[in-house]
Parts: sequence; structure tokens; C-alpha cells
Amino acid sequence: TISMLIIDAEGNLTGGCTTSGAAWKMHGRVGDSPIIGAGLFLDNEVGGAAATGLGEAVIRTAGSAMVVELMRQGKSPNEACKEIVERIYNKHKNHKDMPYLQVGFIAVNKQGEYGGYSLRGGFNYAVCDEEKGNRMEKPGSKM
Ligand code: ASP
Repeated sequence: TISMLIIDAEGNLTGGCTTSGAAWKMHGRVGDSPIIGAGLFLDNEVGGAAATGLGEAVIRTAGSAMVVELMRQGKSPNEACKEIVERIYNKHKNHKDMPYLQVGFIAVNKQGEYGGYSLRGGFNYAVCDEEKGNRMEKPGSKM
């Protein structure tokens, strides 16, 4: 998945999400990326979030919408991403496919604070702003 969250100088948000889908997917499978609320969600009053990883797990939790909802309740982008990754982990921890499960979220709030969190390590995200230019960030991970 390649997702992008953008905030302009006036604090307006936009974003996008694209994916090749899952390896060996069933014909006709629709992952989370094209589903607003799952792979991507933005609320211009609050912030935006986007997901990568196993789409079915993200869809089941309305992952990106929930990250935005937690930010509305006052969580930071990092805290909100972490809480939804934990929720997904708890729902799937006894599943036979758990050893292969990976999910991750990035988020930005209306104030321009950003963050991310993933179930397993190994994913980075790029940030670009006027203050510090381009850089790579490593989100926290549960495992
Ligand atoms: N989220 C995508 C899907 O399940 C997979 C990916 O991370 O690229 O379709």
C-alpha cells in the first residue's frame, strides 16, 4: 500500500491510498485501500489516517475511521494508531494466520502532529514539511 496524508498551510486535509492488493488474492477481492473508513479516512475537523497490511483485518475494525475518531477524542496520532493496532491484535491473536498478520497506520491531526504504529517492525514512512524538509520516520511497533 502507498498512502499519503496531506495538510496545507490553512490546516485543510486531503489524502490518497493505493495498493496492488494482497499476494495470491482471490479473484474479485477488494482490500481495505479503496474503502473509505478502512484504508483511508479524513475528517477536516480532526485529522486523517491511512492503513497498510492485511486489508481484511483493517476492514473489520473500520481501522482508519477509528484512528480519526480516537484523535477526535483527544488522542495523539501515535496513541490513536497504537490503540487500533492493539485492537486488531487482540481480535486476531488466536487466529491461525496470526504469525503472518501485519497491519500499520499513519495519521496526522489538524494541528499538523503526525505519527504511526504497526503490529510488526519493518515499515517506515516519509514526512515532508517546511520546518525540517524530507525525512524517514520509523513508527513504533508492538512486535
Ligand atoms: N492493504 C492492502 C490490501 O489488503 C495490502 C497492502 O498493504 O498493500 O489490499
